[in-house]
Amino acid sequence: MTTRKVEDYLEAIGDLLEERGYVKAKDIADRLAISRPSVSEMLRKLDESGYITYEKYGGIAFRPEGRRLAEEIKRRHTLLVEFLKIMGVSEENAQKDACKFEHDISPETIGCLIRFVEFINLLPEGSKGKEYFKYSFKEGDSGPAPADMKKENKEL
Ligand code: MN
Repeated sequence: MTTRKVEDYLEAIGDLLEERGYVKAKDIADRLAISRPSVSEMLRKLDESGYITYEKYGGIAFRPEGRRLAEEIKRRHTLLVEFLKIMGVSEENAQKDACKFEHDISPETIGCLIRFVEFINLLPEGSKGKEYFKYSFKEGDSGPAPADMKKENKEL
């Protein structure tokens, strides 16, 4: 079992590796807004638990289990961002909220979200169904629905 904290660290390491090809304790401290000593201590624990290799003043690298978990969290994060954006959530909030949801979501809910996102993506861009969906979830006062959308609701 992993804790939320472990998952946050592994996700940050994965993101940093992807962005710049290497990762140091300082980068993680900056990204997670955690003090350097706390980060060093946690990195030692992650090393002892077999998720990463960490040498003080040296680099940080994934072990297979650490990489697998980081990829799993990233996959959930990306799915949640996509879902939230479909619902009309801004990029910034979608990114933030995905990081909260990604830890505790059940496999069943993930499965349903995947099917939902796939379903919405199947609707052709510009089709009535997609336009109506976007309209319905738009934040704030969107004004009256376009007349033909109301009339032809049954055809959605
Ligand atoms: Mn995240």
